[in-house]
Amino acid sequence: MFTLAACAGSAYQLPQVSDAEVNALEQDFATNDAPLKKYKRSDSHYQKRLTRISNNLLNHVEPLCAVSDYPDCHFEVVYDNSAEVNAYASEGYKVTIFKGLLDYLKNDDEMAAVVAHEIGHHLANHNEETERNATTGALVSGVLTAVVLGAANANNPYYSSFNQQQDQQAIQDMMQVGYGIGALSYSKEQEKEADLLSAYLLSHAGYNLERAQNLMWVLNKLDGDNGKYRASLLDTHPASPERYIAWQMAQAEIESNSTKLPYPKGQ
Ligand SMILES: [Zn+2]
Repeated sequence: MFTLAACAGSAYQLPQVSDAEVNALEQDFATNDAPLKKYKRSDSHYQKRLTRISNNLLNHVEPLCAVSDYPDCHFEVVYDNSAEVNAYASEGYKVTIFKGLLDYLKNDDEMAAVVAHEIGHHLANHNEETERNATTGALVSGVLTAVVLGAANANNPYYSSFNQQQDQQAIQDMMQVGYGIGALSYSKEQEKEADLLSAYLLSHAGYNLERAQNLMWVLNKLDGDNGKYRASLLDTHPASPERYIAWQMAQAEIESNSTKLPYPKGQ
């Protein structure tokens, strides 16, 4: 049998949320039908605001780079003026934030939480982890196809080089499908880790974690509403009531943690 090498796992102690807490909050969310507010702001407003927020975060990210073993502590935050509700981390240092998402955010604390979350994915090397898992998925499905084709043709005297070529193509196609499946999204654990690093970074930069928590409600709301707002952001960064509770727990942890740095796993 094939054993998938799952992601390396979090380097930090992540908040542990119980099913009972998640269920209770899900009911809370379901009964709270306050509509999502959409703000009208210009591109130049966002450009200035995002630059100010990003500079503030990047001025305080050094201790988190050090604890994350991320020696090249360099990030670039880019504003994208399209209406897509999205934000992502790419190229090992780049963070892209879309107007479509900022339109639903109320204050600097929520906006800073989005930027810091994407920086968190970089700090924790999640893109590399996810890519590695995707490649593993591709290799496994390719190998499985090869094994199946091999078995089917083992005793077939009519199996020609033409058949072999077709099989090669089938294997390549399967590997692409495998890649797609593996590359779908960050895991829940990776989301929690990015949120934890984000909460620490926000607290270093002087943002209000309680106000920032509202981002988790907004993401849940965007994810619900019959998919009306459903967007690529929520495909790559799964939203859940769990993240809302974990954020609250991270806030409590930071308040009582004199090092102001996340606790490494196993301590
Ligand atoms: Zn994420």
